[in-house]
Amino acid sequence: MRYVFPPKAIPALPIIGSDLFYPVARIFCVGRNYAAHAVEMGGEVDREAPWYFTKSSHALAQSGKTLPYPPGTSNYHHEMELVVAIGAPIFEVDTNDAGAAVFGYACGLDMTRRDRQQDGKDHRRPWDLGKDVENGAVIAGITPIADAGQLRSKRISLSVNGDVRQDATLDDMVWSVPEIVRHLSRFYHLGPGDLIMTGTPAGVGPVQVGDDIVGNIDGLAPVTLTIGQAAG
Ligand code: MN
Repeated sequence: MRYVFPPKAIPALPIIGSDLFYPVARIFCVGRNYAAHAVEMGGEVDREAPWYFTKSSHALAQSGKTLPYPPGTSNYHHEMELVVAIGAPIFEVDTNDAGAAVFGYACGLDMTRRDRQQDGKDHRRPWDLGKDVENGAVIAGITPIADAGQLRSKRISLSVNGDVRQDATLDDMVWSVPEIVRHLSRFYHLGPGDLIMTGTPAGVGPVQVGDDIVGNIDGLAPVTLTIGQAAG
């Protein structure tokens, strides 16, 4: 096939302990999956079913970079999240098959234009400007599931310039990983390359130019980001 212009490179993430890369297809994100964060956002957890928004795979950014403060916001927020990488084709699966389809886990930052997200809420419009931010899905290398250990009770935390801002455990998630994957597979033919950002604990807040952000989940590679000057 001859293209009229060169296609963009396929976004990809390193795999911890391997020289192979994980090519990224879609990035799904779970809303309000920690009760304390739902409260700080002025809402409450929906216990009927999880719900989602998406980021373009081209919003993916590697961990360890200095990335510019994005245009169109004066309230850019960090959200530290467990990222699930799908490794097998699944559709309408039960929770056992959902768990078995997970390739691995990573630390990720769901970077958010909070002011633009609030506009969306206020006007009952979509969240794209708030959430689908260029370089706004910062994700570390993926740890294969066999090396990641049990998720239960693992600490998830984030610090800005060394100050801890978010600190919880994965037990605090309202919907577990198998429950999320099972539910999402009712709506999409999920497959290798699909990522799910599973929601953030309480303690989200604004970042400034020069801030160093470090996100940790026990047993996974940390995600780091430095906020650079706005691009010209
Ligand atoms: Mn989030």
